[in-house]
Amino acid sequence: MSEYYNVKDIFGENVFNDAVMQERLPKKVYKKMREIIENGAELDPATADVVAHEMKEWAIEKGATHFTHWFQPLTGVTAEKHDSFITAPMSNGKVLMSFSGKELIKGEPDASSFPSGGLRATFEARGYTAWDCTSPAFVRQDAAGATLCIPTAFCSYTGEALDQKTPLMRSMEAVNEQSLRLLRLFGNTTSKHVTPSVGPEQEYFIVDREKYLQRKDLIFTGRTLFGAMPPKGQEMDDHYFGAIRERIAAYMRDVNKELWKLGVSAKTQHNEVAPAQHELAPIYAECNIAVDHNHLIMETLKKVAGRHGLQCLLHEKPFAGVNGSGKHNNWSLTTDDGINLLDPGVTPHQNVQFLLVLVCILKAVDEHADLLRASAADVGNDHRLGANEAPPAILSVFLGEQLGDVVSQLIRTGIATRSIKGEMLETGVKTLPDFRKDATDRNRTSPFAFTGNKFEFRMAGSQASVAPSNVVLNTIVAEAFCEACDVLEKAEDFNEAVHDLIKQYAVDHQRIIFNGDGYSDEWVEEAKRRGLPNIKSMVDAIPAYTTEKSVSAFEKFNVFTKTELESRAEIEYETYAKTINIEAKAMIDIAGKQIIPAVIKYTTSLAGSINSVKAACDAADISVQSELLTEVSSLLSQAKAALKELVRVEAEGSAMEEGREQAVYYHDVVKAVMDDLRAPVDKLEMMVDKDMWPMPSYGDLIFEV
Ligand code: ADP
Ligand code: MG
Repeated sequence: MSEYYNVKDIFGENVFNDAVMQERLPKKVYKKMREIIENGAELDPATADVVAHEMKEWAIEKGATHFTHWFQPLTGVTAEKHDSFITAPMSNGKVLMSFSGKELIKGEPDASSFPSGGLRATFEARGYTAWDCTSPAFVRQDAAGATLCIPTAFCSYTGEALDQKTPLMRSMEAVNEQSLRLLRLFGNTTSKHVTPSVGPEQEYFIVDREKYLQRKDLIFTGRTLFGAMPPKGQEMDDHYFGAIRERIAAYMRDVNKELWKLGVSAKTQHNEVAPAQHELAPIYAECNIAVDHNHLIMETLKKVAGRHGLQCLLHEKPFAGVNGSGKHNNWSLTTDDGINLLDPGVTPHQNVQFLLVLVCILKAVDEHADLLRASAADVGNDHRLGANEAPPAILSVFLGEQLGDVVSQLIRTGIATRSIKGEMLETGVKTLPDFRKDATDRNRTSPFAFTGNKFEFRMAGSQASVAPSNVVLNTIVAEAFCEACDVLEKAEDFNEAVHDLIKQYAVDHQRIIFNGDGYSDEWVEEAKRRGLPNIKSMVDAIPAYTTEKSVSAFEKFNVFTKTELESRAEIEYETYAKTINIEAKAMIDIAGKQIIPAVIKYTTSLAGSINSVKAACDAADISVQSELLTEVSSLLSQAKAALKELVRVEAEGSAMEEGREQAVYYHDVVKAVMDDLRAPVDKLEMMVDKDMWPMPSYGDLIFEV
C-alpha cells in the first residue's frame, strides 16, 4: 500500500486561497483583495502587481514553471495556453522569473479559434481572458510539470461572452440583487450578499484502458456505436452501492488526493446503478467555484485513470442498454451571514418568506420549463432524457409530502395552517436506534426535486458543463423575485399582499408540481393534458434560447444580449451536426475496415469447414453450418446496404450549410441510418466466433475492469 496521509495536511495545499493571501500579501493589499472579492470593488494596477508577484513566488515554490489563463470556451472543455515565467535573457545570459499584474488580469487568446456562433464575423477576432478573482488560482502538478492556473472569463473584443463563465457571473449578480430586495421586504437589513450554492454530483464510467484502446468508437466519440448486450446487465441491482473493488478503490483514492490538494472538497463516492459506473460528489460551493471545480473533477477523473491503466468515460451514454450518466445540480441560495433561502424550517407553513421563495421558483420553472430543458441539452444527453432511466424530457417539480401538502392547502384555502411532521422510523430491532424520518421524502424520477433545503436539477448531462443550467436557474429565479418585489414594494398592506401573491403563484403554477413516477407513460399523457412541454431532443430544445420570453428575461438582467443568445443557439446546432457527423464517420470506418472484413473472414472459414467436412464424408450432416452461413450472410448484406446508405447521407449532411436545417437533417436522417447499421452488426456479434470479432464486447468492457 502506498503512503497514508492526513487530509487536513494536504487539503488546498496547491491553492492560492484566503489563508495563503493573508499570510503572503502585505496587510493593505490583502484587505483590498478581500474587498474586491466580497464587494466587487475595482482592482487597481498596483494591487494587481503585488498579488501577481506573490502568486508567482508561491507557485514557483510549488515547482511551477508556467502560468496559464484557464477558461471555459463553448467547446465543452476548458482551454489553456501556457506561458513560462521566464523573461528575455539578461546580458549575463541568465533569466529572471516574472509575472506582472497585467499578465494576471488579462490574457489575449485568439478568439477566432474558438466557437463564437457568428459573433466573430461581425466583430474583431481579438478575444480577452479576464481574471475571476473570486475563484482562487491553483497550481496543477502533472506530467507537464507544475502550472499556475488562473480561472478566467473569456470575452470578445467588444465584450460579448464567448464562454460559460461570463454569463454565469452575470446571472449570479442578477439573483443576488433580486434576492436582497426580497430579503429587505422581510425586514432583513444585515445580509450583504446572496450567492447561489451549487453541489454537482458527477457520474462516470471506468473501463480498462487496454480494452478501450481497441474500441475506435470510444476513442473517437466517447461512446460505443456498436455492441450487443452481455448476458448480464444491471438487472440484479448488485452494482449500486456495491463494495468498491481494489483497483477502482486505488483509483478513487488517487483522485481524491489530487482533488483535495486543489481544494476541491470531494466528499462522497460510490458505485452507481450500471456496472462500471461510479459517482463523485463534492461539498457544495459558490456557483462559479462549483462550476470550476466540476471541470477540475472531470479533468482529474480522466487524468488519474491513465495512471491506473484505466479510462474514464464521461459520455452520457457510453453503452446502449445500461444506464447512462448525468450530473445532479443541487442548488440553493445562501446569504453571506449563513441564511439558506430554501430552508423551510420546522414549520414551513408559518415561514412566509420561504413560501414566497418557493412559489417564485415554481413560477420560474413553469414559465421557463423549455429554457431549463434546453440548458441540459447536449448531444449525448439525447440518449438519456426521456429514455426511462433519467428524468423525462418533461420539466416538473417534486415537492414531497410535507411541502406538497402545504402548497395544496394554499391552493385550496389560501392559507396553510399545518405542516406534516416526519414520523418516527421504527425498525423493530431494539438495538437499532429509532429516529425521526425527514419530512421531505425522495423521488428519484423527478427532474427538479426539493430535497430538504435545496433543489436538485437532475437533467444535466455528465460530460457537459453545469454552467448553462445555473445561468438559467439564477436568471429565471431573479426574474420571478423581481416581479414579486415589484408588487410587494408598492403594497399598502405587506402582509395581505404577500399572502395574496403566494396564493396566486401557487394556483397559477400548480401544473408544474408532480409527485408521482416521472418514468411512467401515464405521466407523459398527464403532462400533455397539463400543457407542459415535452421536448425530446437537443435540436428541438435549442429554439428555447431565442424565444421572446427568454430574450426578455436574459436582457432584463444583463445576462445575455439577443445577439449572444443567437450565437449560442448557432453553436449548439453546429455542435450537434458535427458530433453526429463524427459518429457517422466512425461507424463507416469501423464497419468498413473492421467489422465487415471480420465477418467475411468468419463466413470464409465457415464455408471452408463445410467443404472439408463434405470432402471427408459425403453423408455428414452440415445443416447447422449451412444455416449459420445463410443467416450470417444475410445480416452481412443488410449491414453492407446500411453502410452504403450511411456513406451517402453523411456526404449529403456534410455538404449542407451549418445551422438548424443541417442539425435537423443529422437528427432525422443520419441517426436513423446509423441505427439501421447497428442492428445487423449487433446481431452478427452474437454469431461470429469471439476470437474473430475485432473489438472487446460490452461484457469485456463493463464486467472486467
Ligand atoms: P442527497 O442525498 O440529497 O443527494 P447529499 O447530501 O449527498 O444529498 O448532497 C448532494 C449534493 O448536494 C452535495 O454536493 C452537497 O454538498 C450538495 N448540497 C447539500 N446542501 C446543499 C445546499 N444547501 N445547496 C446546494 N447544494 C447542497
Ligand atoms: Mg443527490
